[in-house]
Amino acid sequence: MSRLVMKFGGTSVGDVERIARVARLVAAERKPGRGLAVVVSAMAGETDRLVALARAAAGEGGNKAPLAGDDFNDEYDVVVASGEQATTGLLALALRRIGVPARSWQNWQIPFRTDAAHSKARVLDVETEALAASIDAGCVAIIPGFQGVTAEGRISTLGRGGSDTSAVAVAAALGAERCDIYTDVDGVYTTDPRIVPKARRLDKICYEEMLEMASLGAKVLQTRSVELAFARRVPVRVLSSFAEPGAANPGTLLCPEDQIVEKQIVSGIAYSRDEAKISLLGVADRPGAAAEIFTKLADANINVDMIVQTEARQAGRQNMLFTCPDRDAQRASETIAEAREQIGVEEIHLRRDVAKVSVIGIGMRSQAGVARTMFAALAQKGVNIEAIATSEIKISVLIDAAYTELAVRALHSAYGLDVA
Ligand code: ADP
Ligand code: ASP
Ligand code: MG
Repeated sequence: MSRLVMKFGGTSVGDVERIARVARLVAAERKPGRGLAVVVSAMAGETDRLVALARAAAGEGGNKAPLAGDDFNDEYDVVVASGEQATTGLLALALRRIGVPARSWQNWQIPFRTDAAHSKARVLDVETEALAASIDAGCVAIIPGFQGVTAEGRISTLGRGGSDTSAVAVAAALGAERCDIYTDVDGVYTTDPRIVPKARRLDKICYEEMLEMASLGAKVLQTRSVELAFARRVPVRVLSSFAEPGAANPGTLLCPEDQIVEKQIVSGIAYSRDEAKISLLGVADRPGAAAEIFTKLADANINVDMIVQTEARQAGRQNMLFTCPDRDAQRASETIAEAREQIGVEEIHLRRDVAKVSVIGIGMRSQAGVARTMFAALAQKGVNIEAIATSEIKISVLIDAAYTELAVRALHSAYGLDVA
């Protein structure tokens, strides 16, 4: 018996007609000896609507401080997880309507277990006994993405975009031949096709590159889903949910690096506008200063990304800058401000209108001149670089957010990625 997992994102299940189309795509994948599990997102816009409701109920925008943290996150999960629950029932009905046996499985019924980190839970394990028996008997299982159940039996969610991770976790647990992620683009492109019309679809991309692309801002797959696919060696394909059932729809296959014959120096370009820059001027130049700063930030649960430290003009002082997600920026700056005298920081500056643009490629490991091409292309467009970070297979720069699209397009051309 083989098994296939199919996942459909929000736009793909955006209304009842689209759900009927999804049902036909699912029906076209049925064949003897193959069990099907389908993971669905909430209908497009539904999660945003539910998030806004939860925030309003918790008092956001009111006179008193709104509920936050542990007082908020568990019930937030109950609210937002309901979007996916509705879609499972709708798709099960649409399948039955065309004669395909199907049933919905809420996560507590499977169970699909996560830790108790509400609103950003991690998958622990997926029980498969009952689920596998049902799909192997020919009944298509419709599973809500994004949600899970904790050891206490409470509903959890996996963070925005988390249905991708749900699908890969189900595929890994079921030992599926593949996990097909159907979305509103027909594969993974060299960069976001919405901002670069000359972007190209990739036939294959290796897990390492996809991991960098996702974590550096390409929203096509949630980062955690790629990590999980990489760790569990789940073949993942990203493809269009708008293709006709049975028509050619090759998409993009995520695969191990050794299956990529021609290693591109740069395979893709990612960008993220969810960035802020915090500059600390005149930091005491003594052992332990950086440790104190980043301990304070870690204790406040703030993820720091790029870090640059340089000598200041005054003796005994350093300048430092770091970036963090924009939503945490105010808190990060306040956290340092509270400990300013104790650490020895003269000035704190916060800048929120910055973006990170990154070029990614496994071919970089063995090629010189990749950074030069990037910096020259940006210089030619008059884009100033405020910080740089590199790893073996990526180079990221921080720039003024107003130049994001210009920079991505310029780099796309500079590395020869434009379609002819
Ligand atoms: P879904 O609702 O199906 O999960 P998402 O909106 O999360 O879909 O992801 C698909 C979107 O990702 C596309 O519409 C596209 O604009 C965006 N995207 C960003 N970078 C890329 C890329 N490199 N390749 C393809 N799509 C990308
Ligand atoms: N519905 C959730 C979201 O909008 C999860 C997902 O679609 O992947 O973030
Ligand atoms: Mg998504």
